[in-house]
Amino acid sequence: MKFEQRIPRQTSAVLFDEAQGYFPGGVNSPVRAFRSVSGPPLFIKEGKGSRMRDEDDNEFLDFCCSWGPLIHGHANEYIENKVIETVRKGTSFGTPNRLGNQLGKLILDHHPYVERIRFVSSGTEAVMSALRLARGVTGRNKILKFDGCYHGHVDSLLVKAGSGLATFGTSSSAGVPENVAADTIILPLNDRDLLEETLAKHAHEIACIIVEPIPANNGLLIQDPSWLECLRIKAWKHNVLLIFDEVISGFRVGFTGAAGYYNVKPDIITFGKVIGGGFPVGAYAASAEIMDNIAPVGPVYQAGTLSANPVAMAAGLAALELCLTPGFYELQEQKTHAMATAIEAYAKEKGYPLHVPHIGSIFWLAFGNERITRSDQIDAANMEYFKVIHHELLQTGVYLGPSGYEVGFVSGAHSIKDLEEAVSKICAAMDVAFG
Ligand SMILES: *Cc1c(COP(=O)(O)O)cnc(C)c1O
Repeated sequence: MKFEQRIPRQTSAVLFDEAQGYFPGGVNSPVRAFRSVSGPPLFIKEGKGSRMRDEDDNEFLDFCCSWGPLIHGHANEYIENKVIETVRKGTSFGTPNRLGNQLGKLILDHHPYVERIRFVSSGTEAVMSALRLARGVTGRNKILKFDGCYHGHVDSLLVKAGSGLATFGTSSSAGVPENVAADTIILPLNDRDLLEETLAKHAHEIACIIVEPIPANNGLLIQDPSWLECLRIKAWKHNVLLIFDEVISGFRVGFTGAAGYYNVKPDIITFGKVIGGGFPVGAYAASAEIMDNIAPVGPVYQAGTLSANPVAMAAGLAALELCLTPGFYELQEQKTHAMATAIEAYAKEKGYPLHVPHIGSIFWLAFGNERITRSDQIDAANMEYFKVIHHELLQTGVYLGPSGYEVGFVSGAHSIKDLEEAVSKICAAMDVAFG
């Protein structure tokens, strides 16, 4: 397959070339390098609402939305004004500030499952801190995670399954010591017998079970609600903590995230992405009893120079206030559902092997016609189709995250007309990929 460029990409190409001399692979986060799609990565210079523009002045309808944070689209005026107002008064003091209180209150007032929260500066940091908290509270070292869930680049979680079914992990990145990886147990999603067996054997050394309740970093692997309930019950039964990593699902599928969506109460929740309104914010939250193990009250140390700085808090506060507009989540869900079903209907009519799992305002282009709920059901060979679709969409002005394992996001700024445009362009791209 030849990937002919019908849009100018010279400026991005030149900038990417220059970036090679500054950053490993020319990027500051690996997927951005476009290694699994065609051409150099696009250097984006500005965005407004549902669209963004690259350095060659190509305009794209954006479904990456900065990998999820931008639930109100680019340069939302309400958020922008709050941020500018705050920046003018100084960006960080390293002290408590009123905006932090306001964001903390807004979240805790509207979330039935958490009583105290601690702000950090990324999703990874939130997960890392939550693991330390779980280990500190229980005095145990091992953690249990699931294949197909991503939890940021925390050492203990950069771990893949070894051979065998229930396995102690081996590191999936150089630089992660094997003895760190060995403290992580990895199970397949939704294998209830294996979960029971593993807990029966190892619960006494397991601090926590960590799961993405809506796994959305390795395709969109929507789980049976009964499996999440099973996790809750097993964690209680075996006296281990349950962590929902809601960095992607938090404030995305509803204000109370997946915990509220499925009505399952985890012991600790991690947040990121949407919570910062486009700024670097993460958080972890739990009951007052669990959170009182954190310094300065308790023995679990965790700190941050720029944690809860007023600018980031202002952005998060403005974004979450907008999320609380009555009907906001229902509308995003309806729009996303309409788009996904329209794409699926076209694929079905044409006999193309593609379906569109979606939940809230998250969607995924999944190849094949079977429902996919575990990562081992994803056929890597199909990613060649994604490459073609991604390329075609760039040519016609639609931007998807540059990997077939990434999900797409619909924002409040995507109009119904935007989504109709996307449907027709995605259908045309499928014609090229499968036709
Ligand atoms: C994005 C993500 C992370 C990592 O967050 P960063 O802000 O990129 O460090 C962790 N867990 C989940 C579920 C995520 O989606």
